[in-house]
Amino acid sequence: MKAARIHQFGGPEVLTYEDIPDPVTRKDQVLVRVKACSLNHLDLWVRKGLPGVKLPHILGSDIAGEVVEVGEYVAGLRTGQRVVIAPMHFCGHCLKCLAGLQNQCREFTVLGNAVDGGDCELIAVPGANVIPIPDSLDFNQAASVPLVFVTAWHMLVGLAAVRPGQTVLILGASSGVGIAAIQIAKLFHCRVITTAGDESKLEKARALGADHGINHYTHKISDEVRKITNKEGVDIVVEHVGASTWEESLRSLKTAGTLVTCGATTGPDVGIDLRHLFARQLRLLGSYMGTMAELHEVLAHVFAGRLKPVVDRAFPLQEVRAAHEYLEKSRMFGKVMLNP
Ligand SMILES: [Zn+2]
Repeated sequence: MKAARIHQFGGPEVLTYEDIPDPVTRKDQVLVRVKACSLNHLDLWVRKGLPGVKLPHILGSDIAGEVVEVGEYVAGLRTGQRVVIAPMHFCGHCLKCLAGLQNQCREFTVLGNAVDGGDCELIAVPGANVIPIPDSLDFNQAASVPLVFVTAWHMLVGLAAVRPGQTVLILGASSGVGIAAIQIAKLFHCRVITTAGDESKLEKARALGADHGINHYTHKISDEVRKITNKEGVDIVVEHVGASTWEESLRSLKTAGTLVTCGATTGPDVGIDLRHLFARQLRLLGSYMGTMAELHEVLAHVFAGRLKPVVDRAFPLQEVRAAHEYLEKSRMFGKVMLNP
């Protein structure tokens, strides 16, 4: 089969499009012909070099395609079925997995991170990872969903316990997590404030339901939040930007507000003034992906049309370098896709 792989860490130039052997399907696995795989910032981190990545390596976490072969031990799936793949790898038998907390499993990793991913024509994955999709979704739409929607659902619903009527600040409206979080917060009838770097992105965020948009280049986020909330601040901040917005995110919280973070796109080193943490009774939560149950829960809303996938642009798999360069320039609103 054809695959986009890296043999060394580095810039987009280390991505190679090459012929490799087809995967062998175990009896507990399903072989899927990949029709679409979406890019995440994780792809950029893995390409630049993360611990635990064995070379050569296939990138790509979010996969949709068609079932080619169903292993003997797998029930409920058939050849030709259109499916999306849960983008996670877990052992399935430890106490955390048995409790349904797969993202706390010691073997937990994201497809395309410590295990091979979907930037290729065929992938074999455990039957539990394979989820049929309705005809209303095309392959690009389906593959744009899993990682960012389960991440945003786990952050807002699983960890921050969002409630109707709350005010939520969502950073980076044009990112995959931002787009998912805006829609999930609106599903819970929250007031949503979001940020982006230009007016056209803010306009698209409003079309998704955001009530207020802040241009983070021309305005100070916390000043705008104070104006919008009548000096009170927000109940929840959804963070994934990191160093460049951390201070503003903390300042935007109301007393006893919750900041939940799943990323550090602009850098990992931030400061915390402990006096503010305890005196303002803030809650800081770290989030990593989500559970299988949360993925099924959020997918049900996507399949019913209550949450919408947003695809920016698709590249043929052989143009994987151009796709990485496009994502790195942050020109997109929504997901960047690869089609084998
Ligand atoms: Zn486990």
